[in-house]
Amino acid sequence: METKTGGLTFDRMAYLNAVLETLPDAVAIMDCNYRLVELNPAGLAMIGVSTLDQIPNRSPLAMVAPESLPAFQKHFQETVSGNGGATVPLRIEVNNLAGVRRIVEYRMARLQNLDGGVAGVVMTARDISDRELSARVVADGESLIHAILDTVPDAMVVIDEAGRITSFSAAAERLFGYAEADVLGSNVSMLMPSPHREAHDNYLLRYLQTGEKRIIGIGRVVEGIRRDGMVFPMELSVGDASAGEHRVFTGFVRDLSERVEAEAQLHRVQADLAHASRLSAVGTLASALAHELNQPLTAVANYVSAGRDMIDREAEVDRDIIREALDEAAKEAVRAGQIVRRMRDFVAKGEVDTRILSLGDLINDATTLGLVGAREKGVQWWIEIDPGIENVLADRIQIQQVMFNLMRNAVEAMEESPDKHLMIRAHPCGEEKVEISVSDTGPGITPDIQATLFQPFTSTKGQGMGLGLSICRTIIEAHGGRLSMEAGDYGGTVFKFTLTRAYRESLDGS
Ligand code: ADP
Repeated sequence: METKTGGLTFDRMAYLNAVLETLPDAVAIMDCNYRLVELNPAGLAMIGVSTLDQIPNRSPLAMVAPESLPAFQKHFQETVSGNGGATVPLRIEVNNLAGVRRIVEYRMARLQNLDGGVAGVVMTARDISDRELSARVVADGESLIHAILDTVPDAMVVIDEAGRITSFSAAAERLFGYAEADVLGSNVSMLMPSPHREAHDNYLLRYLQTGEKRIIGIGRVVEGIRRDGMVFPMELSVGDASAGEHRVFTGFVRDLSERVEAEAQLHRVQADLAHASRLSAVGTLASALAHELNQPLTAVANYVSAGRDMIDREAEVDRDIIREALDEAAKEAVRAGQIVRRMRDFVAKGEVDTRILSLGDLINDATTLGLVGAREKGVQWWIEIDPGIENVLADRIQIQQVMFNLMRNAVEAMEESPDKHLMIRAHPCGEEKVEISVSDTGPGITPDIQATLFQPFTSTKGQGMGLGLSICRTIIEAHGGRLSMEAGDYGGTVFKFTLTRAYRESLDGS
């Protein structure tokens, strides 16, 4: 049959053959009994043969994978009977003759003969194995990621550049109380309490504009808010990733509620213990304290009675002498009052109160109680504070407690020593820290005691609880410092601890 189109006259059969030869899809003609009558080169290649006769019985059925066979046959029969949709592509798996399994998408259409009867079926097929495989890899990857995210105990929230939530893991659902479907597309600020809720868009914008990292790549402890309105502490680490042209931010959230509560509980227990230890320490001071208070009170009594006697006896009262006596009495009364006040503060059960304090005042205050009765025992002491140090960041009572313990231990250790020298020094230790040392000329500490020195219940004293140094170390570590012990250069013992220096100007921002 000749066809004439656009000035070109050609053989229509030759044209059809050329199309079939060059088509990358397989085209087959089968009779009504599934027998392959024609197959183009792409079809032969798909099956792995060079001629139709190499196919057993010329039947495609042996190559269709068993699980795909029923659907294939049904589709074929429907096509033959005129019920099948020619345009509906179906997908089957086939094993070609080389034993390779391929995924094939095909369409079928009924082929009529010249008198209108059914000659067979035309089938076109395309090998979509590669496309399927990569889609499956992506799908597998996604489901793998989901599976991992669902099992990671940390909650994960992914947001886009505008702060909209694009993924919300199972743990995030549990933590915040929202289902993923409820939050997808919402601004992530809904998971934060004020004022961060209002400020978050700006945080994000600033980061996108300046690249300045305030939280990205750095774990931070921040607050989150649950669906029921409960605010809770959480550790947040944010990662920044590019997905194609878009940036996404992944936030991993760890709930700190329990940890914070446990830490608070631990702090309460430690504070109670420290308080109990101060009470018992002051208890052991009782007689020395009585003595220490007795001195100024006796002096007050003496000055006041001398003044009274003068008024009684002398007609001409020397006002200057009386003033001097009263001045002295006032000074002594103030000294007694100071001791009482220090003691009251010391045994008070207060909240931890960390402030910027003058190191000089802190050390002087600590010696008021720490060295009660020391002079009577023949102890001499010196205090040396490097003039470069002004302030430290500390809880006054707790640090006094540490110094009190160290001084009392030193004084007690020197009981039998011929020289009883106590030295308290403070010098800078880098820009950030101050080191305070308490040295004595006692007998030193034997290695067996040293091994467990800072553990509770290590004591060589008849009445000792062995809690002092373990409490001191807890206090110093809670202040971010270290407490250690070493042997003195000339015998005796040196205890050292560090505190954080404070610069007032850094707080004022000036
Ligand atoms: P306690 O004073 O109740 O025994 P501590 O924890 O304060 O408890 O001290 C533990 C032990 O460490 C003391 O019993 C003592 O043997 C030893 N120790 C502490 N300070 C000194 C010191 N400056 N010199 C010698 N030994 C010391």
